[in-house]
Amino acid sequence: MENQLLIYNTLTRKKEVFKPIIPGHVGMYVCGPTVYGHAHLGHSRPAITFDLVFRYLIHLGYKVRYVRNITDVGHLVADADEGEDKIAQKARVEKVEPMEVVQTYTNSYRHNMEQLNVLPPSIEPTATGHIIEQIELAKKLLEKGYAYESKGSVYFDVQKYSNDFEYGKLSGRKIEDLQANTRELDGQDEKHSGLDFAIWKKAQPEHIMRWPSPWSDGFPGWHTECIAMSTKYLGEKFDIHGGGMDLMFPHHEAEVAQSCASLGHESVNYWMHNNMITINGQKMGKSLGNFITLDEFFEGKHQLLEKPYSPMTIRFFMLQAHYRSTVDFSNEALQAAEKGLERLMKAVVLLENIKPSNKSSVDVDKLETDCYAAMDDDFNSPIVIANLFDGVRMINSINDGKAAIDEPGLTKLKKLFSDFVFNILGLKGDDESASGSNDTLNDVVNFLLNTRLDAKAEKNWALADKIRDALTKLGFEIKDKKDGFEWELRG
Ligand code: ZN
Repeated sequence: MENQLLIYNTLTRKKEVFKPIIPGHVGMYVCGPTVYGHAHLGHSRPAITFDLVFRYLIHLGYKVRYVRNITDVGHLVADADEGEDKIAQKARVEKVEPMEVVQTYTNSYRHNMEQLNVLPPSIEPTATGHIIEQIELAKKLLEKGYAYESKGSVYFDVQKYSNDFEYGKLSGRKIEDLQANTRELDGQDEKHSGLDFAIWKKAQPEHIMRWPSPWSDGFPGWHTECIAMSTKYLGEKFDIHGGGMDLMFPHHEAEVAQSCASLGHESVNYWMHNNMITINGQKMGKSLGNFITLDEFFEGKHQLLEKPYSPMTIRFFMLQAHYRSTVDFSNEALQAAEKGLERLMKAVVLLENIKPSNKSSVDVDKLETDCYAAMDDDFNSPIVIANLFDGVRMINSINDGKAAIDEPGLTKLKKLFSDFVFNILGLKGDDESASGSNDTLNDVVNFLLNTRLDAKAEKNWALADKIRDALTKLGFEIKDKKDGFEWELRG
């Protein structure tokens, strides 16, 4: 841990030297998905960004407690305080229990994350599992005078808060501007101001997700969930809070306000935000028809996709951009990334077969220094990848006999590639085991069908039919040809 790691802190708007609260330990919280549909490309960016952070901190020797929640209640349509809960809405449309919706899409999300080689967090709490903590937080905010009850709901009083603290400092907004841009309340509204946000919402009669509280049978507000869970598992002060830039306002701003209001101080030392994704230069949006799920990417099943793109292509492509830059997805760019990743992986294989010489003509030390310097500069993965391609050129020229490497240099180069390619960037050979087993399967099926041909030649019809029937039963479609056979595995 002698490295000096710089992290860009959204709160102070500058790169700061990372100093954990407890030496050797890091507490990190990242806002997880609201689970009411299959994960799309937008979900993969924060997951991969903070997986890179998680992996690098672990590599540096820190003991990291990484908490990434599952939002399974309270996230209303349009991220507002009004409207239907996204999960309850899905449950109504699909005629299932809300918790079935939650389970289905949590499973699906975890599966996609595994495909992307995103490590599971240390703790994955759900909002519905922390209703008590959220009620306690609401009580505390009421007690401190920064919240008020109105018709069974509890709201955060932004005006009152901004008299004592600076509301808007995380997202860089001014309360006056926010007030000017907020719609006038029509007197029927329960809130004192349009800027106030729900900490607890009274459930309408038709609302099925509800819990008892001192104010009403209701449900927690979305902005209150994360702060309740981060405090529970990471304490009143922790190191890193991450999420997508789209969450900075109002979600994270509301988190800052609630921790200052309830504790008297910030909870978070370093706020980190990943930038957004565009597709063919356009923002992603349901109405634009470019909301592509990860499954669709992996299977190539979307009208905008020319072909399937593997999870590792998506991961590699994403890491080719710095997390604070936007990433634009296009078929062209993805196919270029696919080729680049292939070239990198080929070099990794080549590296295993390189023989050391007595002398060295390559500088592995510099390569190592450059890789660490890039990661230490706010997790600059594109520079790391560029450095690794210098390494690829090095490997290729050693392999071609145009350069030489000695034993210690080779050992170091192997370790460098294994650390950075696999452990830190989290890349892996694409479906090597799957294609390996496919080759084996092909061989076995061809062997059986050739045996069947032999049996037919010997007029052993019983054996020939037995093989055909067994394969058909397993889902193989077999076509006899004049000069042999053809087969495919259906489904
Ligand atoms: Zn959150």
